[in-house]
Amino acid sequence: MTAAAPDDERAADVRLSGWGTTMPSVGRLVVQSSDDRDSLAATVKALPARGGIARGLGRSYGDPAQRGGGVAVQLRDAAPHVVIDAESATATVPAGVSLDELLALLVPRGLFVPVSPGTRFVTVGGAIACDIHGKNHHLEGSFGNHVRRLSLLLADGTVVELSPAQRPELFWATIGGMGLTGIILEATIGLLRIETSRCSVDTDRAPDLQALLTLMEEGDRFFRYSVAWIDLMAKGAHLGRSVLTRGDHARVDELAPRQAVDPLVYDARQRLTVPPVVPGPGLVNHVTIKAFNEMWFRKAPRRRVGQIVSIPGYFHPLDFVGSWNRLYGRRGFVQYQFLVPFGEERALERVVERIAASGAPSFLAVLKRFGAANPAPLSFPA
Ligand SMILES: Cc1cc2nc3c(=O)[nH]c(=O)nc-3n(C[C@H](O)[C@H](O)[C@H](O)COP(=O)(O)OP(=O)(O)OC[C@H]3O[C@@H](n4cnc5c(N)ncnc54)[C@H](O)[C@@H]3O)c2cc1C
Repeated sequence: MTAAAPDDERAADVRLSGWGTTMPSVGRLVVQSSDDRDSLAATVKALPARGGIARGLGRSYGDPAQRGGGVAVQLRDAAPHVVIDAESATATVPAGVSLDELLALLVPRGLFVPVSPGTRFVTVGGAIACDIHGKNHHLEGSFGNHVRRLSLLLADGTVVELSPAQRPELFWATIGGMGLTGIILEATIGLLRIETSRCSVDTDRAPDLQALLTLMEEGDRFFRYSVAWIDLMAKGAHLGRSVLTRGDHARVDELAPRQAVDPLVYDARQRLTVPPVVPGPGLVNHVTIKAFNEMWFRKAPRRRVGQIVSIPGYFHPLDFVGSWNRLYGRRGFVQYQFLVPFGEERALERVVERIAASGAPSFLAVLKRFGAANPAPLSFPA
């Protein structure tokens, strides 16, 4: 990829925002490859007074990956530069490679990322900088727990090697550091071995929040993955009604004979894309979301065990629809995430009550149980 320094005319002035599209700003966008280290060093050394910040695929909901009046340095890297060591189950990945591209390499080889967020359209650099969590935090922590080493470009143009043993303070400040310590160029991450490209998933429908919390408390530890979708529009006796899906990667002996013929076949194509012509106010409103949530809750079985689901179907259902954030219209949307300590579930209940009472339409509310924090001071949970 051709490098473009910030004062180069190939570096464009653009309007950038995060996935929620609420806080756009105009700044320079420089797209570079992480292996062109000299050009990247020149870019950071030539940053204007407003400074710069790294950008991945812009999937953060807010505005951390843009710099109004400054420079956003977006890394885009080629998947063939990924080095997979199947024996040690590790991959050394340029930071601008997306989890989508990485999974297409890993899954057919019987490997999987250690932590997957609800979308695979994030870069490895973004995954580390946000120390993303998945449905397995209660057992396996966040993405940073699985980073063995990384290389970081500092503001003075030098590159440093970091790991939990080598400059641990800077390593952990970079995990969940939101790009504030420098630009992550490459990382080696530990991987999970899988027998198949499918998951075995149990579903439970919980009539209210209390029932959901009891199910999760009693059973989550028996499942690698657990996530509950909550109907935030439901009130009264139905407050917090939910659909809990828990599972693990399926073994070959759990597949139907025709699936077992090619157990690692992986197809993660996007099925449709929302066009850029959604009317100004968008399609997400009280009426449409109430109807959607009702349908989503009712279509889930009360209890189902061992359903075999594809990796995209279980981990990334939103990715089947490209640019779904356009459904919210011009004003965009806000994503609010918070953690409540065990024993303080009443706080969670009050949040659910207040959102339900406010009538703010939401089809995307999830609850996960978290495990122990890692040493990263800016991460989630700290
Ligand atoms: C549908 C959807 C579902 C999601 N589900 C989850 C989830 O389950 N769990 C979760 O934790 N998150 C989730 N997210 C959020 C998303 O995983 C993170 O925001 C992720 O960091 C986005 O990666 P990105 O490559 O798009 O980074 P960007 O959004 O472009 O950047 C995010 C931050 O990382 C920094 N950064 C990016 N690249 C680098 C780099 N090379 N070096 C240094 N810093 C860098 C940026 O400066 C910025 O601060 C979800 C987002 C969406 C849209």
